[in-house]
Amino acid sequence: METPVRIDSRFPNMGTTIFTVMSKLAAECGAVNLSQGFPDFQAEPALFDAMHRHMLAGRNQYAPMAGLPELRQAIVDKVAALYGATYDVESEVTVTAGATQAIFTAIAAFVRPGDEVLVFEPVYDSYVPAIETVGGTAVFAQLKFPDYAPDWEQVKKLISPKTRMIVVNSPHNPTGSLLSAVDLEKLAEMVRGTDIVILSDEVYEHILFDGEQHASLSGHPELAARSIVVSSFGKTYHITGWKIGYVVGPAALMAEFRKVHQFNVFTVHAPSQLAIAEYMQDASRHLGLAAFYQEKRDFFRELMAPTPFRLLPCRGTYFQLASYAGLSELGDRAFAEWLTREVGVAVIPVSVFNADGRDDKVVRFCFAKREETLVAASQRLLKAFVKSA
Ligand code: PMP
Ligand code: GLN
Repeated sequence: METPVRIDSRFPNMGTTIFTVMSKLAAECGAVNLSQGFPDFQAEPALFDAMHRHMLAGRNQYAPMAGLPELRQAIVDKVAALYGATYDVESEVTVTAGATQAIFTAIAAFVRPGDEVLVFEPVYDSYVPAIETVGGTAVFAQLKFPDYAPDWEQVKKLISPKTRMIVVNSPHNPTGSLLSAVDLEKLAEMVRGTDIVILSDEVYEHILFDGEQHASLSGHPELAARSIVVSSFGKTYHITGWKIGYVVGPAALMAEFRKVHQFNVFTVHAPSQLAIAEYMQDASRHLGLAAFYQEKRDFFRELMAPTPFRLLPCRGTYFQLASYAGLSELGDRAFAEWLTREVGVAVIPVSVFNADGRDDKVVRFCFAKREETLVAASQRLLKAFVKSA
């Protein structure tokens, strides 16, 4: 259909998110899709039974704006049990339509035109567009190949009187790196005495390997007092399509968050909130996630060992980075497209998460998949890259 409207695009240079691009290409080519991060296996029927039961019981009307009290209580209890933080159920937790909405809403609530927001690249792809939508400017610190640890000296130099917010993400997508307790101390030092708000994206909080403990900002009282901490049930309970997450933070920050949330989303799908609140009561369901995904990580790494990809460390998340340096002269976008079309395995090129396009010849594989999916992908890679296979 034609439109008579002359469009002065707000984002003339904005493309489509890489996750959509690669999943679409994977479907078109019949490739094994290890690009976009989502499980290809089912959640437990108990979760679906609970949702169905609540729907039949008539819990189908608007939930309160901040979320149903049953779920808010379950979240606060979990955060207290894991990180020792006590958030108020009424005023310090809000249920959101996934982490993406939580992040967008937090940025809209605190960032104004002319403000700077410090992010670490490789940076998850929704942060910068959200910052720019509200007139803020992203300032980029680097997590450097191959260990992707923050350089706090660099961060110190990048903080200015205009810095309104710092966004951190641990366990980190796409690199699988973690912030340590020492990193949190450094961060606390950087922001002490300022009005900087921290937005902490902790959607992979339950997916850390080899006995590592998650350093949640909720568990660091000084940082928690200036932080909005974000999580997502999509990652934790294998239901990315449900789009339900939450934020916790001090009452004064949460009040600002809710001013935006109430007119942006108002409230989130009620029966799923009830189902999740019930499902969360068995803590082994989130506490068991680390071992569950560690097994998948190890299985995938073993499958990949005979290929010429160089696997980088993976300390958390369900993503495995791999360097293909020496394997191909292509840039990582072209390589990911070639791998999808010609080899039949879809991956995410990591340079898309770098504002300057820095390309370290690294691609991201998602291993939140059934064993047979991972085996099918590895067979295709072996056939393409290992002569004897
Ligand atoms: N942050 C990070 C780091 C993510 O990886 C994702 C999703 N994969 C999100 C936020 C968005 O989560 P949700 O699907 O709950 O919106
Ligand atoms: N966060 C998921 C990933 O990293 C994708 C989410 C999305 O498609 N927006 O792959």
